Amino acid sequence: MAVLDELSGFEFEDVIEDVFRNLGYENVRQAEKTADEGRDVIMEEVVDGTRRAIVVECKHTGTVGRPVVQKLHSGIATFDFDGPKRGMVVTTGRFTSPAQEYADRLQQNDDPHPIELLDGEDLREIADEIGLDLYNGRIEILCDETLRPYDPAADVDAPVQEAFRDIENIEAADLPTPHSAVTFRPVVAVTADTNAVFETSVGAIHRINDRTQFVVHAERGHPLVVDEDVAALVTENFHTRIELDSEQFGEMFDDVEERRFGQTQTEYKEWAVERLQQHHTTTVTYTGDNNVTYNKTCEPNLSDISVRSIESVYLPEIQQTTEILEYSYPYEYYAAGPSRVTTEDGIRRCVHCETSGVDETYTYCPNCGAIACDNHIKTERLECEPVCIGCAVTERFALKTKYFYDEENLEAFREEYAEMPLHQKVIENKWLAGGSVVATLLLIVGLLVVTGII
Ligand SMILES: [Zn+2]
Ligand SMILES: [Zn+2]
Repeated sequence: MAVLDELSGFEFEDVIEDVFRNLGYENVRQAEKTADEGRDVIMEEVVDGTRRAIVVECKHTGTVGRPVVQKLHSGIATFDFDGPKRGMVVTTGRFTSPAQEYADRLQQNDDPHPIELLDGEDLREIADEIGLDLYNGRIEILCDETLRPYDPAADVDAPVQEAFRDIENIEAADLPTPHSAVTFRPVVAVTADTNAVFETSVGAIHRINDRTQFVVHAERGHPLVVDEDVAALVTENFHTRIELDSEQFGEMFDDVEERRFGQTQTEYKEWAVERLQQHHTTTVTYTGDNNVTYNKTCEPNLSDISVRSIESVYLPEIQQTTEILEYSYPYEYYAAGPSRVTTEDGIRRCVHCETSGVDETYTYCPNCGAIACDNHIKTERLECEPVCIGCAVTERFALKTKYFYDEENLEAFREEYAEMPLHQKVIENKWLAGGSVVATLLLIVGLLVVTGII
């Protein structure tokens, strides 16, 4: 766990300059910016009476590889300074192993221009050390651990297939592969204890002994407490977290996005303490020795609240979209290995009305690709297969609306119908054929047919 400096409003180099000036380096200044020379900050130190120059390469974000270190090494050699020189690469992110090995080798070989590497974690320690206020909303948490975005024992699109299993008239094998995107969303889990006793002249009137654990979305803007089931997903699977390896996940998912933490751990901690203080503040009614009833507001002090742990992790949000004919079916969930919390189920939902959820029956319309509820799915008269009201061509036969995939099927049935004897035509309307409405209706229908109205 380290910090990542987001630095909206002022440059990373400015902060680095401040940091090193505070650490006691001399003549700290920013080098003139040239296109490909990596010397962002120049400074000096005096060791045993010898003044030494340090060329500091500042890398704002991400992972710093060996080429950066190598380039700085040759940059130092040509840097104009009358005396010994060394280098430093400072990043808010991390260094790759080859970068680290390269720098280590320079040290081991007593290279005249050794290079020191400072990553985000080092930077945070340094900032703490010198009491420099880097924590005004511009320093983010850098976290490289995530809950697992998929279950390695199943396909990445297994949750989508599972949802489609509830849809009548479509086979999993016939489904196109969904487009899968994963967004790694930063969350912070805070565990805090609140212990307070509120005393009056009649003794203790209120006690708080509470351990609270909550999980917040920790992106830009205000922290947002996650839903209870999502919080449980995070806390119950926290121990199974793995390294966030974008490259590896890039092979599993079509799109990979990594959001950044919006605030520092310290800020989330302060936010949590304030929130708990408000949460535990209550008005207590009690009766004094004089038999008078009092109302007292019991608000715990900030010192009554201690944050036991504050942990950061990425929570993968998966968006899988299945395109079938004219329709696109989104399915979204937070994942932690085989466990997940569904946030959007566009599969178990009628495209023609508000009907949704796992308790309804849905049927796939092979004519247009719709998934529809029982009210919006009909039987195609000619093929005797499901068709939805959205795409069906309709016409009334025997006073009853019939549904067809297209004009062609309708025309074919018209011909078929024209050939039918009367009693068979009547069967086209179950209600009429049911007989309960008696012969009168049959007679009317007969008359209509004879007069050419139907
Ligand atoms: Zn419907
Ligand atoms: Zn349809």
